[in-house]
Amino acid sequence: MKQRLQHLGMGIRIGFGFVVVLALMGALSAIGLRYVAEANQRLKDIAESNNVKTELATMMQSALRERALSMHTLPILTDPFDKDEEVQRFNAQGSLYIQARNRLESMPLSPEESKILDQILAVTRVAQPEVQAVVEMSIFNDNQTEIFDRIRSVAMPRQRAIAKQVSALLELQRAQTAVAVKNAQTSYTRVRNLMLGLGTAALLMGMAIAAFVSRRATHQARQLATQAMYDPLTGLANRSLLHIQLEREIVLSKREDTPFAVALMDLDRFKEVNDTLGHDVGDELLREVGRRLKETVRAEDTVARLGGDEYVVVLHNMDPGDVPAIANKMLTALDRPYHWQNQSIDLGASLGISLYPSQCGDASELLRCADIAMYVAKRSGNGYALYAQEQERTSRGDLSLKSELREAIQSGQLSLHYQPQIDHGSQQVVGLEALVRWNHPQRGFLAPDKFITLAEEAGLIGSLTHWVLKTALNQLAPLHRQGYYLSVAVNLSARNLHDMELPANIHALLNESGVAPESLTLEITESAVMANPNDGLAILTELDRMGVTLAIDDFGTGYSSLAYLKRLPVDELKIDKSFVMEMEVNENDAVIVRSTIDLAHNLGLKVTAEGVESQTAWVKLGILGCDYSQGYFMGKPMPIDELMDWLRKSSWSRAPDNVYYAAL
Ligand code: C2E
Ligand code: MG
Ligand code: MG
Repeated sequence: MKQRLQHLGMGIRIGFGFVVVLALMGALSAIGLRYVAEANQRLKDIAESNNVKTELATMMQSALRERALSMHTLPILTDPFDKDEEVQRFNAQGSLYIQARNRLESMPLSPEESKILDQILAVTRVAQPEVQAVVEMSIFNDNQTEIFDRIRSVAMPRQRAIAKQVSALLELQRAQTAVAVKNAQTSYTRVRNLMLGLGTAALLMGMAIAAFVSRRATHQARQLATQAMYDPLTGLANRSLLHIQLEREIVLSKREDTPFAVALMDLDRFKEVNDTLGHDVGDELLREVGRRLKETVRAEDTVARLGGDEYVVVLHNMDPGDVPAIANKMLTALDRPYHWQNQSIDLGASLGISLYPSQCGDASELLRCADIAMYVAKRSGNGYALYAQEQERTSRGDLSLKSELREAIQSGQLSLHYQPQIDHGSQQVVGLEALVRWNHPQRGFLAPDKFITLAEEAGLIGSLTHWVLKTALNQLAPLHRQGYYLSVAVNLSARNLHDMELPANIHALLNESGVAPESLTLEITESAVMANPNDGLAILTELDRMGVTLAIDDFGTGYSSLAYLKRLPVDELKIDKSFVMEMEVNENDAVIVRSTIDLAHNLGLKVTAEGVESQTAWVKLGILGCDYSQGYFMGKPMPIDELMDWLRKSSWSRAPDNVYYAAL
């Protein structure tokens, strides 16, 4: 749809370009035609007025000639009638002359013309009386010799002076006409040149527009191709381009008889970081992952992003023996901490690898196999896994596990192990953490890591948590009755914090079991709260109001903001075992443990350390002011019977007061 709109937009722009060129050409033609019409009109005007003037001047010239002729004819005529007729002709020519001259004077005249006409008037005034006198002599005097003498010596020279001026006038008019024609020609040439110039300009403009439009079109076509083939966030190949590259690799591999590998990876903690630190940070991390992968592999390898936090690398010409080295190289690159606003973020990745042609026959199968291997890598926590046939069973096994889990919750295949929590002050057990186990009929005991995520994915976490809470409270109640006033801690999953019924359900379970709310602790991870801050806060506030103790589990591994933590109604922090277990050898971990304890105390919270495996750790934690500890050193998670035994025998457990009194 978007592409169709872009095509339409381009079409509109091209059409618009052509309309502009056409309009320009039209406007130029109109201007040119107007110029030509104007030049024509000017020429026509000049021609017409000059024609009239020349005609009038010619009339004057001919009238002068006729009158000169009459002047010469009159003296030789004897018949009075003939004379009379000749005089009339003479006078008529005089009238014609005056008429022509008057009309000339009334026309628009150039200064030169006016000057000549003035001169004509002047010489006419001088000549007229003499010519008149000669005519009268010719009528009344018979002395022809005298008359001709007078004509020759006086009248004709004056008459010729007029004729000369009239000729000058005619000459001037001819010259003027020639100039006008020349001007008109120049004007034509100018118009023609202008038209040629403008036409060329329009053509060049049209060509420029065409070049611009075609460049834009090419650019857009390239952009569309890029959009269709590349991931806009990272600039890496997208799924479509990946498939094309895979097909190409398969062809190359067949032709050159070389194997290649497909590595599919998924970031281990991306969702958590994205939920906690926000999408902008998430996007930047995804870009950084892309950059690191590109830097790690060779130029001929293809790095693609499938979406979310999944990446694929097509490793060109890859010998299966080289796979571990390249897999480790990629994992090392991705394991390096990421930095954001002075925070160091560990993402980690799991990588699944499939091989062509030894394992899979086509592009889709290569991706499917790599996906299964990746899943295995994630589960095992080994970083990477190479695809193997039997993994298919494992992944199918997970599907069947999901359906079996529902059954397991109802049919008593789940059980709880309890791990003691020891108070540093009294050195005595004060609480238990309930940890769920699944005694699978075929697979034996399964640790929660193997099925908690499955339960979340299958929508079973609500009933699982309900089962754990109910069992823990029902098993704690008899302990209380026996005088072991211990608290029990139950782990909640992130999804439980979406369940607004949870506080009411817990209230009912407390009532049923008769356990006081103060004896129940609920453990939630930082990321679980951050993933759902609004509902989470409402649920936790309600539980706090009921008197239940709230603890933040695995503290230090998430990215919660302290400002937010302060607003939570929690009572306790549990330092993650990864820091505690290493604190004796790793100075950084020791610093984290120490500062977490101080931080918790400053916020008015109690601190529990997890993963205490040695006496040194126990002692050191005591010195640092840690309130409670749990770990293999004091007691491993145990089934209820074993726990009862431990409670009776362990030095961490004093015989209960009422039992002691009963014995007395
Ligand atoms: P967690 O809540 O942090 O539980 C502590 C884990 O650390 C337990 O693993 C425990 O066996 C182990 N641990 C205790 N002391 C030591 C020690 O000294 N050294 C070492 N290496 N490990 C120690 P477990 O039982 O496998 O549980 C793993 C996680 O599964 C728990 O981590 C918790 O997040 C989750 N989980 C357990 N039970 C439940 C449950 O009922 N509901 C939910 N939602 N999650 C549960
Ligand atoms: Mg816990
Ligand atoms: Mg923990």
